Amino acid sequence: MRILNQGISLDSFFTALNSAKHRILMLDFDGTLSPFTPERDRAYPYPGIKEILEKIIGAGNTRLAVISGRQLSDLENLLGLKNLPEMWGCHGAERFSRNEGYTSIRYPESTRNLLSSIIDWAEKNDLSDNLEIKPFGVAFHWRGFPDARQKEIEKEVESAWKHRLDNSDLELRKFDGGIEVGSRNINKKNAVTSILSRYKNDYTAAYLGDDYTDEDAFNALGGKGLKVLVRKNYRPTAADIILSPPEELLNFLNRWLKAAT
Ligand SMILES: [Mg+2]
Repeated sequence: MRILNQGISLDSFFTALNSAKHRILMLDFDGTLSPFTPERDRAYPYPGIKEILEKIIGAGNTRLAVISGRQLSDLENLLGLKNLPEMWGCHGAERFSRNEGYTSIRYPESTRNLLSSIIDWAEKNDLSDNLEIKPFGVAFHWRGFPDARQKEIEKEVESAWKHRLDNSDLELRKFDGGIEVGSRNINKKNAVTSILSRYKNDYTAAYLGDDYTDEDAFNALGGKGLKVLVRKNYRPTAADIILSPPEELLNFLNRWLKAAT
């Protein structure tokens, strides 16, 4: 564990959590709760994570939300929790909550056409193997490819699409392992803002994530919660602390459970 923001004390955080009226725990999935695996559909949580999440959800006094770029169905299967938490799939384009059930956005026809042209372009440019077609966007994956090839794919995608997306509601964004096209209004920043918007100043919150897209969430959280980068190695970040998974992450979640009950 490393404290990056010297104004932060974990002891004070958990003391505040203990007496908070509302507790909000926001969690990224890939790279945070689960390790990266070459097979994306087998990225199950680290041992012990499922159990501690079940306990926090079961205790019933934390609003626990998993916020991921993955599809909701994927996320639900990989999490494998008996008691479903609040989930934000596809960065929030799809949602599940106990009160509202499953909900999702719908793109206008022009946006759907634009996404189809990107898929056609990928096929014509030999990028089909890298392409993942998502319900609300597409991702070009390059994890495991040589550095030079990764840069090449990034350049190809950017030069073909960056400007063409300018006047649309889609945007390009990099993630750890590729580049994706998705709605510019649906991102982890808006997810965090929307979750916190229901509260006054009567909550204690934390957001845990590992990726570039989580930096948006950290920025949205600002000084209103604890920003936790889950990562084995340091990288420049807006986070307050770094936890190395899985041990330090499990410790953190156990302390959360203890403080909340
Ligand atoms: Mg992640």
